[in-house]
Amino acid sequence: LRGQMMNRQLMISGILQHAADNHGGREIVSRLPDTGQIHRYGWKDCHARSKRLANVLTGPLKVKSGDRVSTIAWNTHRHLELYYAVSGVGAVIHTVNPRLAPDQIAWMLDHAKAKHVFFDVSFAPIIDAISKKCKTVKRFVVMTDSAHAPKMSTKCEPYEDLLNSASPEYDWPEFDENLAAGLCYTSGTTGDPKGALYSHRSTVLHAMACLGQDVLGVGSRGTIMPVVPMFHVNAWGVPYATAMGGGKLVMPGAQLDGKSLQELIEQEQVTQVLGVPTVWLGLLQYLRESGKRIDSVENVLMGGSAMPEALLRAYESEYGVDMQQGWGMTEMSPLGTVGKLLPKHDDLSDDEKIKIKLKQGRLIYGVEMRAVDDDGNVLPRDGKSSGHIQVRGPWIIDSYFRGAGAEAFTDDGWFRTGDVGYLDEDGYMTITDRSKDVIKSGGEWISSIDLENVAMGHPDVLMAAAVGMPHPKWQERPLLVIQPKPHTTPTVEAIQEFLAERLPKWWVPDGIEFIDEMPIGATGKILKTRLREIYKDYQFP
Ligand code: ADP
Repeated sequence: LRGQMMNRQLMISGILQHAADNHGGREIVSRLPDTGQIHRYGWKDCHARSKRLANVLTGPLKVKSGDRVSTIAWNTHRHLELYYAVSGVGAVIHTVNPRLAPDQIAWMLDHAKAKHVFFDVSFAPIIDAISKKCKTVKRFVVMTDSAHAPKMSTKCEPYEDLLNSASPEYDWPEFDENLAAGLCYTSGTTGDPKGALYSHRSTVLHAMACLGQDVLGVGSRGTIMPVVPMFHVNAWGVPYATAMGGGKLVMPGAQLDGKSLQELIEQEQVTQVLGVPTVWLGLLQYLRESGKRIDSVENVLMGGSAMPEALLRAYESEYGVDMQQGWGMTEMSPLGTVGKLLPKHDDLSDDEKIKIKLKQGRLIYGVEMRAVDDDGNVLPRDGKSSGHIQVRGPWIIDSYFRGAGAEAFTDDGWFRTGDVGYLDEDGYMTITDRSKDVIKSGGEWISSIDLENVAMGHPDVLMAAAVGMPHPKWQERPLLVIQPKPHTTPTVEAIQEFLAERLPKWWVPDGIEFIDEMPIGATGKILKTRLREIYKDYQFP
């Protein structure tokens, strides 16, 4: 017996239509990269301008269903309009990470067969460096007005001029919800970049899941600031979820330093912030030096790499922020787990609560997960049996764009995340490593994440990264690379002593090296591939 319910297609344009109709006055605030000014408007205005943009796309730019329109842009209202208009007309918004090398960017635009490229003024030099190589690209659009357009060798049109000349009347088409809406490449920290091609259906379902109270909990009272960039995995779904939930959206543009973030948080009374740990490190340093506060912030979602314990403690105890950890990846739209505490944890001590918050988070509805051993046997959810983490669900990739990476999928329909970890009976997942970063010493695993986390608790350590290095006796031993805090000179012995008090003795690295500046990749994570190159001739003492 079939259900007798309407089969309305889940359309991304429907999210914006809902926001315009029901909370049209709720604000979107952006710090603009072209003028440095604050721009302010509501969801209704965003809808109106997105419709103009839709006319630009389908009119002079001749964008057809399935065409790729690429963006190289910060978090701003203009990027938001592109998110909605490009997918709304049936094309695919391909977001490009500007922190990649120009050649990689050119490679991605070519692989995606980008038809047009929209970019912020800060990225004009990148466009000039690569535009000749971009054979598929018909037009370059600079996201500003003619008064602020930079001088460039590439022929470009200003975004605002295009919008001004377009009609504000547009009816969003309805089509199959399974059509492609967005394209994002993995940053290639562990191999060649591969494209994840999101559909309208996957994007809408993921955003609905984000609304959940235990997930992002974006509601009409929230003021949410994604510091996580819109150029990587849809800023964790925030641009969509906030429009659904009716929140105020605060976009930090190009200024992601501690001072600029604190100012914007205070001025806009931001309640919720999201980003990777490196951003939080920068902000914390600024707050401590300046004595400034972020009192409006109720909670922070930190993800992308493991949340360092020292950072968690600092924000919770010094700034009264509730810290949550999230885990996910490009291939998962990205969210898989978020670490809220359960009622049964209410009476635990602060230290015990922190232990739970240091797990990667609790599974959200829509994502199924299992840990399997090397032979593919499913491991018990006992909070210790560690294996390869696999996932499936309606916003998880089922194949990469243009055929790469088939080995990531199992025969029985699961996606291999490349992460190693375990689950417990409450659905909390703990990652011990990425499979490529696993350190195996004398046949036993050492968790690089745990090692790094403890090392970062040392008062003189700013960042720490552990990589496995060949060892004559133990096959492999951890080399711990440390970037000390400014004006400190920790010694190898002091670090080893600190670690020995907190970790199994045999985990304590014999090799510790200090580095002036940790290599950071395009998504704000420490680049272990680069560390392995730097220390390739390393000899253990
Ligand atoms: P890449 O860095 O490969 O481009 P993503 O940005 O999609 O890819 O990152 C996904 C990976 O980041 C995950 O597979 C995992 O290894 C790591 N990661 C994400 N969140 C966390 C977290 N909370 N703790 C530890 N690792 C994380």
